[in-house]
Amino acid sequence: MAPPTSPLRRRARIPVTGAPTEDVPAPFAHNAEYEFARILDFYGIDWQYEPRTFPLRWARGHVSEAFSPDFYLPDLNLYVELTTLKPGLTAEKNRKMRLLKELYPEVNVIMLKKQDYLRLLAKYGYGPLSPGQVPDIDRVLITAHKLQQRVAELGAQISRDYAGKEPVLVGVLRGVICFIADLVRHVSVPTAVDLMAISSYDGNGSAAVRILKDLDENIKGRDVILVEDIVDTGMTLNHIIEYLNTKRPASIVVCTLLDKRARRIANVPLEYVGFEIPDEFVVGYGLDFQQRFRNLPFVAVLKHELLP
Ligand code: 5GP
Repeated sequence: MAPPTSPLRRRARIPVTGAPTEDVPAPFAHNAEYEFARILDFYGIDWQYEPRTFPLRWARGHVSEAFSPDFYLPDLNLYVELTTLKPGLTAEKNRKMRLLKELYPEVNVIMLKKQDYLRLLAKYGYGPLSPGQVPDIDRVLITAHKLQQRVAELGAQISRDYAGKEPVLVGVLRGVICFIADLVRHVSVPTAVDLMAISSYDGNGSAAVRILKDLDENIKGRDVILVEDIVDTGMTLNHIIEYLNTKRPASIVVCTLLDKRARRIANVPLEYVGFEIPDEFVVGYGLDFQQRFRNLPFVAVLKHELLP
């Protein structure tokens, strides 16, 4: 069954506080279900509400007892039954869950208490380990799942393009840490990894990038893939490429996770692009704001009021 089409399907822009909601819109039966759906929307996780009913007992050829778990999360291939703290109800649900698992061992199903939502999402790599970071986030732009999928595709593409070669992946610290660590594990050709650090570009268009940590590898005559977290104006990248070219590599291409194309000033060719994103300040998956948020497993838009 297709997920319900309601305003709820729009990406939520709400702080996840765990506070109950006043109104429970259809199709939900309880606040807890509505709130769980809003949390899933916030993290960009697809969900279906009660899409399947599992017969549990039969009498004279008819189904006499059945169970419909509240949610199905296709990305995780997981059914979720939410539970309240009422002991009578929990015992009854436990009995049905046991039967369901016996009769349908291939089905992944869990029972979740309200206080377990955020822990579950963190476990599956969707939410932050600390819910304290959530209030500073306006919205999740790219979910952990989509990041992993796309990074795997980029790695496969690089592996095809560099078949028979041994490229050097050069990452520019520090925002690139998560991306390069994941990317390199999807590259199947032999590859070296090196890292360089630069001083922040001063923004007035004249300052050259200062190298704080140079490459350890000698890249002369080698195929370099410059790995970037985000290309914004393109000025930083331009300077880095100019610098790397002085070391006379055989070739240099750029692989960037994020491309904020609307703000481009220096037109640097980007060979591999993970995602084109709107002109918003993003954090997470290695990207920081004042050294915070690098540890978020997704890419999120920071609340505008936090920016200078
Ligand atoms: P560019 O020279 O392309 O304008 O700037 C690139 C650098 O600016 C990136 O390597 C990154 O450090 C920083 N930057 C640009 N946009 C963002 C953003 O949305 N979020 C974060 N955290 N850093 C950004």
